[in-house]
Formats: sequence, C-alpha cells, structure tokens
Amino acid sequence: MDFKLSKEQRDIVRAAKEFAEGEFPQRAQEFDREESFDPDLHRKACELGFVGVFIDEQYDGAGLGFFEHCLIVEEFWAVDPGISQAIISTTFGSELIQLFGSQEQKATYLPRLVAGEAVMGTAITEPDAGSDPAGATTTAVLDGDHWVINGQKMFTTNGTVADFLLVFCQTQPENPDRHSRHSFILVETDRPGYNANKLKGKLGIRASDTAEVAFSDLRVPAANLVGIEGEGFKQLNSFFNRTRLHICAQACGLARACLADSIAHTKERRQFGRPLASFQATQFKIAEMATHLRAARNLYYEAAWLVDQGKVDHGLIAMAKWYAAQMAVQAADEAVQMHGGYGYMDEYRVQRLYRDAKILEIYEGAKEIEKTIVARSLLG
Ligand SMILES: Cc1cc2nc3c(=O)[nH]c(=O)nc-3n(C[C@H](O)[C@H](O)[C@H](O)COP(=O)(O)OP(=O)(O)OC[C@H]3O[C@@H](n4cnc5c(N)ncnc54)[C@H](O)[C@@H]3O)c2cc1C
Repeated sequence: MDFKLSKEQRDIVRAAKEFAEGEFPQRAQEFDREESFDPDLHRKACELGFVGVFIDEQYDGAGLGFFEHCLIVEEFWAVDPGISQAIISTTFGSELIQLFGSQEQKATYLPRLVAGEAVMGTAITEPDAGSDPAGATTTAVLDGDHWVINGQKMFTTNGTVADFLLVFCQTQPENPDRHSRHSFILVETDRPGYNANKLKGKLGIRASDTAEVAFSDLRVPAANLVGIEGEGFKQLNSFFNRTRLHICAQACGLARACLADSIAHTKERRQFGRPLASFQATQFKIAEMATHLRAARNLYYEAAWLVDQGKVDHGLIAMAKWYAAQMAVQAADEAVQMHGGYGYMDEYRVQRLYRDAKILEIYEGAKEIEKTIVARSLLG
C-alpha cells in the first residue's frame, strides 16, 4: 500500500494551490455579496489546464483520472468554495458525455469545455422530483427526426450561463419500470423554447449560478440523445458515482480552510491574557477537526482510486460523500465558534465557509439518501 502522491500529482496540487491563492481571495467577498462571477477567471483556469483534466486527450483533455480532478477541486475549495464551484461546475455533465456519448457528441462538446469556450450543466431535479429523480416528468417526444421537450427543472447549476445542458427527460413514460423511463438529451440553450430564471438569495456558493429552467416545445435533433434510450437512470448512477467523489473533495477543501483560519485566529487572539490556542478546549476542537478531515480524505481517496481502477464501489462512495459533507459542516461550525463574534461577520472567511458548507449535505444526494445507499449495500 502506497499513500504517497506521485510527482505529477504533487505538481498538480502545487499548481492548483498557487492559482487559487493568487486569484480567488481578492474577489471572493465581492462575488459572494453580489452573487456574481467573472467569466475571465474561468477562462484563465481553462488556459492553465485545471478544468476537465479527466477528459480524454483525444478531446483536448489531459486524460488524467478522476482522482487528479478531485485533487484540483480540493485545492480550489481550500481557498474559496463559491469561485471554485463557478469554475469547476462548467463541465458538470461532461462525465456523462465521456462515458455514454457518441464519438460525434464527444468531439462536438468536450473540447469546447476544456478550452473554456463553453459552459455546461446537467438538469435532473424538478420542482416535484429531487431525491427521487425517477419521478422526473419533463418529457421528450420523438417527432420525425427531432425530440420535442416540455417541462421544468429546478436548481440547475449554470442554467442562465450554460451553452448547453444535459437534460434528464422521460422518453418512455409508459414503461412499467420507473427506472427505465428516462434518457439524457443534449440541449443547446440558444434554441427557441428555452427559458432560465436565475435564483437569487442562496445561502452559500453564491458566485455559482443556479436557475429554474423551462422547456416549451423545444426541438433538438434526434442525434442529441446520449447513449441508449431508456438507460438514463442507470447512467445517472454512474454519473453520481463520480460527482459524489467530487463533493468529497469540495468538503475536504472547505474543512482545510476552516482549520487553517482557526489555527491562525486562535494563535493570534488573546483572552484572559493568553492565546485562545493555549486553552485545552480550543486544542481539542483543532485536533478533532484535523482528525475528521484526514479520515474523510482517506475515505474518498480510496473510493476515487477504485473508480480510476474501473472498480466502482457504490456503497463506499455514498459513505465517503455523507461523511465528508458532515465533517465539513461541523468544521465550519467549530471554525465560526472559535472566531467568536468575528466569525459572524462577512469580513471573515469562516462566515462564508459556514454558509458554503451546508450545500454539501444536500446536492448530489442528500445525506439521508447516501446513508440509505450505504445501508442497502450492507443489508441487501
Ligand atoms: C445550489 C444548488 C445547486 C444544485 N445544482 C443542481 C444541478 O446542477 N442539477 C440538478 O439536477 N440538481 C441540482 N440541485 C438540486 C439538488 O440535487 C437537490 O436539491 C437535492 O437532490 C435534494 O432534492 P430536493 O431539494 O428536492 O429535496 P427533497 O428530495 O424534497 O428532500 C428534502 C429532505 O427530505 C429527505 N428525504 C427525501 N427522501 C427521503 C427518503 N426516502 N428517506 C429519508 N429522507 C428523505 C432528503 O434527504 C432531504 O433532507 C442543486 C441544488 C442546490 C441547492
């Protein structure tokens, strides 16, 4: 067993850290307050090769593993979650194209994502179907050589900024097996019938765009179907087996930021004539934060390594996801606590981290759903 990162992986970590530390801190508060983002930052990250490293070289990616992608995500989130999400989510769904798309789809869409010339998103959740995606009712009906799409999606990341989306649609609504009714269809957002409304007032990751999206008799060519019709739900599980690891990396990055800020603050801040760090209560908080972070990272490293070996462990991934998310939420809570009143103010990063952390327990499968998957893998 070898726990060391390779030289190439260490170089990736160093470069990602340098980029994030050099570019994010001076813009983070502004983007958070204004719920905005500067797309130039995304293009810069693409130019430096941080976006879509898991995409095959044939399609201009680096051809690296999902593990290397996670290393970059962790470094970015360790500086600012909102900016990181705005940058990294621009390829959200490219995993599906890479796994199930046709050669033509891969050649058309993937190089533009890597180059920073396009942004994508994946629209699964609907107003009445969140934790139960098989309940999604957006329909795609074949009319000659086009799909005609009607329906509404909720909380779509990049809904108002994406050039194209992967949309989870019912193509076989009459199929008695509710897990065989859906398919993913690529939808260019400049087509007539597309409407997106930015959702303002999010708790955290406010630099990232979130929208409600509607499709009204929107037509796309039949060739925009991804993979085999009716296999959308199966594809969704393969997708989540990758993106949930990405959430673990987000959580570990965020917790690292909490730990770093807490150590700095408690060494500096004095009460009762002593630094806060000299009190045992503070030391225990720091020790626990660092230990839970390490445990969460080891769990997701193992799960991500297995994915890159072609041995996807669905139960282990779900375990890693809920554990890392909970660890990050607790780390942010303790970080604010150790900052006292200062931690409650938005001049201090820990306030933002506290708000940014909560989404980790909600998206890509809420913690209750993850625990259900873990239990099912154990109990059958
Ligand atoms: C900022 C943000 C970005 C997002 N980005 C995207 C995106 O890009 N694409 C996309 O498709 N979706 C996206 N989502 C949606 C996200 O994935 C859903 O919010 C999430 O899956 C939960 O669904 P829901 O909100 O409908 O909650 P619900 O499904 O209504 O769940 C509410 C609560 O009930 C619990 N619950 C539900 N069912 C069960 C059960 N069987 N047993 C026990 N507890 C249960 C849940 O765990 C949760 O705690 C995003 C959401 C947010 C907030």
